[in-house]
Amino acid sequence: MIIATNWKAYVESLEKAKKLVSVAKRLAGSTEHDFIIAPPTVFLGLLAEKNNSKLAFAVQDISTISGGAQTGEVTAGSAREAGATYAIVGHSERRARGETNSEISQKLERALAQGLSPILCVGERSRDDNGGYLSFLREEISSAFEPLSQKERIKILIAYEPVWAIGKTSSESITTADLTEMILYIRKALSEFLPGRGSLRTKILYGGSVEPDNIRVLAEGSGVDGFLIGHSAVEPDSFKALVGAVSV
Ligand code: PEP
Repeated sequence: MIIATNWKAYVESLEKAKKLVSVAKRLAGSTEHDFIIAPPTVFLGLLAEKNNSKLAFAVQDISTISGGAQTGEVTAGSAREAGATYAIVGHSERRARGETNSEISQKLERALAQGLSPILCVGERSRDDNGGYLSFLREEISSAFEPLSQKERIKILIAYEPVWAIGKTSSESITTADLTEMILYIRKALSEFLPGRGSLRTKILYGGSVEPDNIRVLAEGSGVDGFLIGHSAVEPDSFKALVGAVSV
């Protein structure tokens, strides 16, 4: 599985950041999983190691611009130089601050141009009885994939993160049955842009209140390729418990 952890702004101390990375390194060495850590950007260059094939680093967001007179922007190129090989794009917490599908397209282009693999976050804000949330999800996927070439499309990982499930507890997270259905739906939506077996190769992660007591049940039989985990991956003990629950 891919275990991606989004530290958001939870980790403010470099000492704690280093501790979490050393836990991840140990877990990467002792399990079959591949790990991706998305630390706060200012820590990226201090933590990222370029030669560990089982522990990669992601930038939590990138700029729509590629450089120049733009104070405060984090470009894809600078994130790559700092050691990122992945870029989270379209996280709901960025969308909530006004990020649009068109800006997400630009960010995908920037990431891909710099050789970063985008982790594209999609997910409905709420559910309704008429399937409106499925059309919403399809639109998020279509607007991201449509402008890209086939070569670019295959580099994208999807993180399905229903907004209603983020930052809660495991009891409020998605059920395995619903996750299974959503993975199938996303693969179907992807097949429009990745014909043949292409859509089966795309890695689909789930994020939204994954905790040590629900990670295993969500992993089993749902077809998910891994997880994007926020709050429960920013404490060493809870992080170890999460990984332990899906390791043999
Ligand atoms: C996220 O926001 O990417 C996320 C998965 O958060 P949490 O695990 O805290 O719900």
